[in-house]
Amino acid sequence: MDSVAGEAESARPLRVFFIPFFATGHMIPLVDIARLFAARGVDSTVLLTPANAALVQPTVDRAAAAGLPLRTLLYTFPSAAAGLPPGVENISALPPSECHKIDAASLLTRPDHDRLLRLHRPDAIVADTHFPWTTAIARDLGVPRLSFQALGLFPVCVMGALFRHLPHLAVSSDDDPFLVPDLPHPIHMVRRELPDFLRGDSPITAAMDDLSEGESGSLGVVVNSFAEIESAYAELYFKIDRMRSWFVGPVALASADSGDLAARGGNDPAVAANRERCLSWLGTMKPNSVVYVCFGSWSHFSCEQLKEMASGLELAGHPFVWVVREAAGEAWMPEGFERRVEGRGLVIRGWAPQVAVLGHGAVGGFMTHCGWNSVLEGVSAGLPMATWPLSTEQFMNEKLVVEVLRTGVRAAEGARRGTAAEENGVVGAAEIVEKQKIGAAVGRIMGGGVEAEGTRRRAREYGEMARAAVKEGGSSCNGLADLIEEIRAWPKKAAGKAA
Ligand code: UDP
Repeated sequence: MDSVAGEAESARPLRVFFIPFFATGHMIPLVDIARLFAARGVDSTVLLTPANAALVQPTVDRAAAAGLPLRTLLYTFPSAAAGLPPGVENISALPPSECHKIDAASLLTRPDHDRLLRLHRPDAIVADTHFPWTTAIARDLGVPRLSFQALGLFPVCVMGALFRHLPHLAVSSDDDPFLVPDLPHPIHMVRRELPDFLRGDSPITAAMDDLSEGESGSLGVVVNSFAEIESAYAELYFKIDRMRSWFVGPVALASADSGDLAARGGNDPAVAANRERCLSWLGTMKPNSVVYVCFGSWSHFSCEQLKEMASGLELAGHPFVWVVREAAGEAWMPEGFERRVEGRGLVIRGWAPQVAVLGHGAVGGFMTHCGWNSVLEGVSAGLPMATWPLSTEQFMNEKLVVEVLRTGVRAAEGARRGTAAEENGVVGAAEIVEKQKIGAAVGRIMGGGVEAEGTRRRAREYGEMARAAVKEGGSSCNGLADLIEEIRAWPKKAAGKAA
């Protein structure tokens, strides 16, 4: 390239394509990351299927209206081939027994990714770990592929250690604890807490080699987290897997003004009504008095467990907002429940404006299923958490909150909590966690006493660190700037290597 052409080339804005997986907990943070890139002048395009685009379009439209170079580019979801009805394109839209169809569908999207990436030839691709083939496409195009890790590096390192050493196969029962080797902290788990793909009875196990090949050919991993909680795990990830990582989060904090928060969850009128109801109700409550109870975008409990949870919240006596997403009508609701808790308990059916709720001054605690985004959003809000994981890597995230950060307590201490498979009746039936244990968990984060005070103090401190991380000069703000510079420098580096 001659020097004039070279200068023109470097004056051209960087063009980056982002490809989120078909799960709300993957899509929301990657769109937030695309928005952060756009806020730094990177021409950013998010590849989405139509029904998924609808969930994030308000966020993208707001950014575009503010002059940021952010847009969506649509491709068709392979509904018919995956045996799904038109418009069902996200695991949140399916009962647990059918979620695997979304995984199957994702494997059919390779031709569309291939076509669009070769047509538009971006300068870099940031694709979810579920799309390992984007590494090969990027290699063909001569551009870097970054992998978007929708988890933190703590669970990634825990899973890596389990794959390497298989300590869970050396114990004699599903409930025998074992130490996870290699980690900076002494973390113990039991086999029944592990995701299916680690236990070897899921189709994902077979796809793991492809996933890790996609990872290892990437420039590195973009992570929605921040160094102050996970730097030891970034070092470990590099030491063992030679994977570079960039912390750019918490992205919900980095991108959010109140309008952005209101745009989360899409344009559906029911979502807007919930938002209004929730925030105006919180406006009537005392500071730090309310516990927010939510289990993410696709977890399900049995009706019996929901009934017990209702009684537990009633028993605890603290005001609450409880998000219930069960489609199974109102069979879970104890007789007269909403009337009895009127004025101190609000049940939201469907979708709540979680980040706005967690940031509301009336909220003083969070009962969570420990999805990675929820953990990070709870940490960002400086809130103590009562942790109630159900599946995937959520039991690992619980260890981070309860044992490493010590900003939360295990919900239902001493109880055998059901896994998602048990709650959904796929494998046996879950033992019901009794209302007394649920009430006690709420008391341990919302009540008085030395333990609760200590948990709250640490949570506040991590909340301050999270906010500082995304401010100018903060660790994640610098991480994002470094990453963009690395992408910008890629053609020169690649040319240097070739010479
Ligand atoms: N969320 C929300 N309102 C809800 C449920 C979920 O805003 O009623 C958001 C939540 O803030 C988070 C995401 O959806 O950003 C869920 O991701 P997470 O990793 O916590 O859990 P998952 O749904 O993937 O299990």
